[in-house]
Amino acid sequence: MSSEQYINLLKPLDLGFTTLKNRVIMGSMHTGLEEVKGGFHKLAKFYAERANGGVGLIITGGIAPNWEGWVKPFAAKMTDKSHVKEHKIVTKAVHEAGGKIAMQILHTGRYAYHPMSVAPSRVKSPITPFGPRQMTTWDIKRTIRDFANAARLAKEAGYDGVEIMGSEGYLINQFIVKHTNQRTDDWGGSYDNRIRFPIEIVKRVREAVGDDFIIIYRLSLIDLVDEGSSWEEVVQLAKAIENAGANIINSGIGWHEARIPTIATSVPRAAFSWVTKKLKGEIDIPVCTSNRINRPETAEKVLADGCADLVSMARPMLADPQLVLKAATGRSDEINTCIACNQACLDHTFSNKTASCLVNPRAGHETDLNYFPTSKPKKLAVIGSGPAGMTFATIAAQRGHDVTLYEKDKEIGGQFNLAKKIPGKEEYGETVKYYARQIELTGVKLILNKEAQIDDLENFDEVILATGITTREVNIEGFNHPKVVSYIDVINGTKKMGKSVAVIGAGGIGFDVSEFLSVKDPEHLPSVQEWLAEWGIDPKNEARGGIEGVKAQIPPSPREIAMFQRTKGKMGSKLGKTTGWIHRSTLKRKNVKMIDGVDYLKIDDEGLHYRDADNSIKVFKCENVVICAGQISLKNLQQPLLQLKKPVHLIGGAHIAAELDAKRAIDQAARLAAIV
Ligand code: NAP
Ligand code: SF4
Repeated sequence: MSSEQYINLLKPLDLGFTTLKNRVIMGSMHTGLEEVKGGFHKLAKFYAERANGGVGLIITGGIAPNWEGWVKPFAAKMTDKSHVKEHKIVTKAVHEAGGKIAMQILHTGRYAYHPMSVAPSRVKSPITPFGPRQMTTWDIKRTIRDFANAARLAKEAGYDGVEIMGSEGYLINQFIVKHTNQRTDDWGGSYDNRIRFPIEIVKRVREAVGDDFIIIYRLSLIDLVDEGSSWEEVVQLAKAIENAGANIINSGIGWHEARIPTIATSVPRAAFSWVTKKLKGEIDIPVCTSNRINRPETAEKVLADGCADLVSMARPMLADPQLVLKAATGRSDEINTCIACNQACLDHTFSNKTASCLVNPRAGHETDLNYFPTSKPKKLAVIGSGPAGMTFATIAAQRGHDVTLYEKDKEIGGQFNLAKKIPGKEEYGETVKYYARQIELTGVKLILNKEAQIDDLENFDEVILATGITTREVNIEGFNHPKVVSYIDVINGTKKMGKSVAVIGAGGIGFDVSEFLSVKDPEHLPSVQEWLAEWGIDPKNEARGGIEGVKAQIPPSPREIAMFQRTKGKMGSKLGKTTGWIHRSTLKRKNVKMIDGVDYLKIDDEGLHYRDADNSIKVFKCENVVICAGQISLKNLQQPLLQLKKPVHLIGGAHIAAELDAKRAIDQAARLAAIV
């Protein structure tokens, strides 16, 4: 697609007193830099790179209007002049880069991760260990003043606007919904009373900041929880928020406690834009859509289809700060696409680590990880073109090294070529495409179908072994039985699977393989309609909360599957913090058995014999047994190279195979390529 074809995406948006240069908003994401020493200088660089990359408006991570509303103790808040000074570092950098930035005001309410949390009523959230205190009338009035104060200070700090976080189940949302607001005073009871809190906030914020300041209100368009708002209520609130003085309504999709995925990679692209479209005709101010819009083509289509006036992309801006610029200059094939894995962004945030990006380890590290041109170009050989090899080769070549990349297979990609075949993980193919283009652009000499030998490497200054892994064999009687197959053969389709399958190993690959085996056609990409039906979401959003009374239509698994692990306890406990539950839920819905705490006894014609956690001997009768028991490093060339006294570096799975991890591999490769 050429730049002219992004006609809607690149169109400016006139808000009367200010103009956004295009229709792309960088959505709010907590980076964790807000709370570290010197973090605002790092944040300034982080946001300035995104502003430089052409995004129309940046929204910061959530900043609390008072201490009760902060995400965790000592998280960022905007309550006095000392905060203004820090934030000015950020706004100045963004403005100098030609961008605009709004500060998100977020009061977490009962989602706060501290024991002093407050909420409209004393109803504990299912996702935090702390029960909230019920707010008094005085608390409510004070909190409204605190929102207005935070907005006034944000203006003083040089922000172009604020976003009031009214969705995702945070405090404002807790007032709106009956389940969390059981008050009987003026702030609870009827819907009119329950929405008094957000309306008052927007009014008071507008009074505090004047007319020439952007107010975005993030409104929960589909709560995806029981007793959520009805569509009529959503529209009533949107109209009231418009009247109270907001300039833009941003779409909130689902509460954090909802047990329906809303941004994971298995959610189809732009799966919720139709919800925003429903609101668009109801109000006059611009509406912004969000969730799983990761490519400019998708964003353009959403806008061209009249779903929204703006699109919000948060994680895609971590993956590629130049997304808009590349689209605008006819280089969308150079975009490093967010694969929606959550592994280095949200999973980091929820583990108190700086948010970064699996496919772009520079994200959040702009001040300490840079790829400067080298002053000493070297001749480098990279062996293996999996995630680590591709990353190293392209960054090193971009820095000016002479890089040759050897791949024994017929194509680049390594383990990502398996990952992209797993239903719901098709996005991993985008990373392979990105590197293929980078190899062309940076002049890496790619040699396919060639297993590099020691003789091939003599003339190189240094060798980087990114040779990856081989599968771990298991020591179980009957391991050589014809029904035993490796996960690689299953995913590549080289072995046909029977109607009943035992999966040995319940790590990331065991889950992937079980998901692969539990669908009829792993190559079928579900449409948005099919996906909504599968998760029990009303495609018209007429049901309360988008789900009440809607029965999920789960296509049955074509085979009986049982997953096994020797460790006692929950299966998939090492999967991503924000995505593990989705994988578990997906398999449970397909009736996949999860059997932990086993001892494997033997595999024979009957099936897999094991001793279970209660010491009973059992057999799972099955036609196939798939081994997903982890990996071991492949580094055969290391010793011969050392004997030649050739500098050799091990990266990725060749370095550490245990819990082989693309995030670690790419990060390690990028950091080595930055200094080699
Ligand atoms: P893994 O996470 O290390 O899991 C290996 C599994 O094999 C464990 O369940 C382990 O359980 C079992 N196992 C280990 N040694 C065994 C032996 N000798 N005999 C029988 N069972 C054995 O490895 P993986 O599943 O191959 O995944 C590799 C990595 O890829 C993951 O850690 C992750 O980083 C990444 N990945 C992630 C995802 C995701 O998050 N969705 C998906 C794919 C890949 P017991 O020891 O308890 O039996
Ligand atoms: Fe996207 Fe994964 Fe990067 Fe997060 S870590 S921004 S989800 S690619």
